[in-house]
Amino acid sequence: MSSVPVAVVTGSNKGIGFAIVQALCKQFPGDVYLTARDPGRGQEAVAKLQKEGLHPFFHQLDIDDLQSIRALRDFLKEKYGGLNVLINNAGIAFKVHDTAPFAVQAEVTMKTNFFGTRNVCNELLPLVKPYGKVVNVSSMVSSSALKGCSKELQQKFRSNTITEDELVELMTKFVEDTKKSVHEKEGWPNTAYGVSKIGVTVLSRIQARMLNEKRKGDHILLNACCPGWVRTDMAGPKAPKSPEEGAETPVYLALLPSDADGPHGQFLSDKTVQTW
Ligand code: NAP
Repeated sequence: MSSVPVAVVTGSNKGIGFAIVQALCKQFPGDVYLTARDPGRGQEAVAKLQKEGLHPFFHQLDIDDLQSIRALRDFLKEKYGGLNVLINNAGIAFKVHDTAPFAVQAEVTMKTNFFGTRNVCNELLPLVKPYGKVVNVSSMVSSSALKGCSKELQQKFRSNTITEDELVELMTKFVEDTKKSVHEKEGWPNTAYGVSKIGVTVLSRIQARMLNEKRKGDHILLNACCPGWVRTDMAGPKAPKSPEEGAETPVYLALLPSDADGPHGQFLSDKTVQTW
């Protein structure tokens, strides 16, 4: 078994994830895994970085597929006895002009951004080694979507005692409410992406709390962040930040020094803790 530190980035064949791998290859003292749901796109991305003299490793990972997540989990367990850095970057967003019904957009977006990310965490968090770092890439849109929620929902999402089961119930209810076209009446904002990212930010707060309760002595730091508005296939060419600039906050959180006792359980943008 290798004792080399290991970092894994989900959805890293392009966009911000690719730039995170690129930066980690230069700064992380260990093996860096570029992962992609499509092995062809993943290997192509690895080859691109190799041309720059960087040496990421590749592993397939589709966060919508539990078998794929478990295959990565077993590989990490066997080869490294765990992992040191996990960056949950993979995500999707429908384009503004997409004509798919809102309920379909809600179900599909929630499946990947919230439930996929949660499944990766459930399988990989137990493997994270002491002094490890976990970064969940959310969005400032989670904050604006939170402000668009009813007072009652806002209170639930800001609660310091909400459980993962309660959060799952709320995310499921949002999708069900869109199917019945009652989501606005039920206090939800009109953004599937925004609600899925509320899920990612609140999940991070819950996971950090659980680490405090169950693994305090392991000094693991877990945070959510927004990369900013970044020029990628998701956000388009008009965004102000380059993918490299978008990678800065996730990489900063992934490389927090081992004697840092925070941030932990926070939501950051531009390396700064935001009020939730
Ligand atoms: P992007 O260019 O569209 O890249 C998204 C990446 O996620 C791709 O590699 C994609 O793989 C992967 N992915 C999607 N579904 C997946 C799945 N089921 N399993 C594994 N990988 C999957 O988007 P981006 O702008 O870099 O976004 C990266 C993260 O930043 C997302 O979580 C996004 O919500 C967040 N974010 C972006 C912005 C922005 O302005 N760009 C702002 C705030 C937050 P494929 O190539 O196979 O599709």
